[in-house]
Amino acid sequence: MLAPASVVLDSLESGFGEGARFVRFTGGEPLLDRRILKWIRAAREQGFTEVAIETNATVASLTGIAQRLADAGLTRAWGNLMSAEDDANDAITRDPGGAVRTWEGLKALAEVGVSLGLSVAVTAETAPGIAALIDRAARELPGLDGVRFGIVQSPDLLDYRPLQDALGRACSRARKHRLDFRFEPAWAPPPCAFEDRFVAVHTPLYASFYIGEEDALAATRTRVEACETCSVRGRCPGFHREYLESGGRSPECPPGETSRAALKGQLGGIARHRMAQLQTVQTPTDDPEKEFSEHPNIRVNWACNQRCRFCWVDFDWTPPTREIVLDQIDSVASGRPPWVVFTGGEPTLVPWLADAIRHARKAGIQGIRLQTNAVHAEEQAPKLAAAGLNHALVSLHGHTSDISDAITQAPDTFVKSVRGIEALLREGVEVSLSHVLTRQNLESTREFADFVADRWKGAVEIVWSVAAPITEATQRYEDGIVALDVAGPALKRGLERCLERGVPFGGQNDTCGVPRCVLEDDVRFVSDLGPELARESGFVHPPACDDCIHREGCRGVREAYAEVHGDRGLQAIRRSTPSG
Ligand code: SF4
Ligand code: SF4
Repeated sequence: MLAPASVVLDSLESGFGEGARFVRFTGGEPLLDRRILKWIRAAREQGFTEVAIETNATVASLTGIAQRLADAGLTRAWGNLMSAEDDANDAITRDPGGAVRTWEGLKALAEVGVSLGLSVAVTAETAPGIAALIDRAARELPGLDGVRFGIVQSPDLLDYRPLQDALGRACSRARKHRLDFRFEPAWAPPPCAFEDRFVAVHTPLYASFYIGEEDALAATRTRVEACETCSVRGRCPGFHREYLESGGRSPECPPGETSRAALKGQLGGIARHRMAQLQTVQTPTDDPEKEFSEHPNIRVNWACNQRCRFCWVDFDWTPPTREIVLDQIDSVASGRPPWVVFTGGEPTLVPWLADAIRHARKAGIQGIRLQTNAVHAEEQAPKLAAAGLNHALVSLHGHTSDISDAITQAPDTFVKSVRGIEALLREGVEVSLSHVLTRQNLESTREFADFVADRWKGAVEIVWSVAAPITEATQRYEDGIVALDVAGPALKRGLERCLERGVPFGGQNDTCGVPRCVLEDDVRFVSDLGPELARESGFVHPPACDDCIHREGCRGVREAYAEVHGDRGLQAIRRSTPSG
């Protein structure tokens, strides 16, 4: 039976009113409903930025259909496939020749610019073949960027664990092809249904697990006794009723420590992901009339060609589309910010970065800043500068290949970054260096300042910071993070060398800087933030701050730092010290 038009239109309107910006039409087969073009158009007119269909795409293989869908505003298609073998797929769908048409339809959609994902129904029968299906899809479908696994409930599914091996192989293939992979939320078994190690290794499967309401339970789901003491219960969708009613296996206890830690890391990451896609950042100003200025940070991707151990970005997250980014630029331009920052991941990996810069300039934003590792800047600098780039904050974490490449875990990239910096300077782009202190570069802060002084003669600023545990996944940072009593003296040595050699520097009042007590309250290096900036969320004042005269104008330390190191490195300041 077809859904009445008014129900679809009302759902679009109410969903948009509640803040939804992505919509997916599903069925049955939505392309068999002739009104689909009308629904897609209505969704776009309503303001949805991603309009998707879940489809077997056979209809899209007919001449002209893919183009009509794209013209109506379709941005994404989730293609239903279950096997890499056409005959096997047809046997499951009972549609001879259907698989060939599905592949053709998906390719036709990709050709007209529709983003593609793969939607895979997992059963005991299909599971062994899904790794091969992912390989074929990555090879044949241009622009494929994600896979969703739906575990099909059936009366003979009495234990999810036998699916683990095949699912694990499929996740590994998806990871290798850099596809965002996760369970389809409605069809996701809870994490306790699998072994601990499986959940810890393939945590991205649960990336959508946290997106719903806290402690919400759908009518088709229920809890078990182990849920009473489970620390991920607040976000867990529970077990399918149907599964338990058929006698399916449930756990005697909640998920173990390893998977809980991984899931909580993912939770911290997801919350940050949603918040960080478009973020308004406040920075202190020198203007006595204006304590801080606000500017937007727009993330154009999550992928990166380096792997800094201290980085909180999760490369499995879904990147925004070009369209979403251009929409975000338009929405922030109306607030007339002095500048916008394009960041990632590594933004130069996005082929349309220069378009985004040009779009921001046309929208009236004069200051265009880029956060980059500059590995690709040598070839891209002319194009980016011509588009309107004014400033680049380039990550450079060492003064030699040995140190820098060890921190970024990306061999041979130090040399490329240095060449990239020089190309940016040649094009008239102002450059600052983001130098993050970790265990590996702590002893060479003076040498780094000397390297910058010798090479760029005061034309390049160093923005110093100390690696910090930003998300709840603190185990990710263990080998890089140093406590502030160790980082502080090293940072001070580097800052003093900057003064001696005439290298401009900054960063201490940024969110990755250090509190002023860590630099012995030396006002040459760090000063009060003012109450507005000091009240940033995610920071705490440990007990050492209780008697400090700077408490009101100081952020304190990150919550995760306090959890790991308490107030180590902090020392209440009881009397202002004169400048050094
Ligand atoms: S809340 Fe219950 S169903 Fe969910 S992971 Fe915990 S024990 Fe399992
Ligand atoms: S003791 Fe606390 S309040 Fe004082 S400067 Fe250090 S971190 Fe800030």
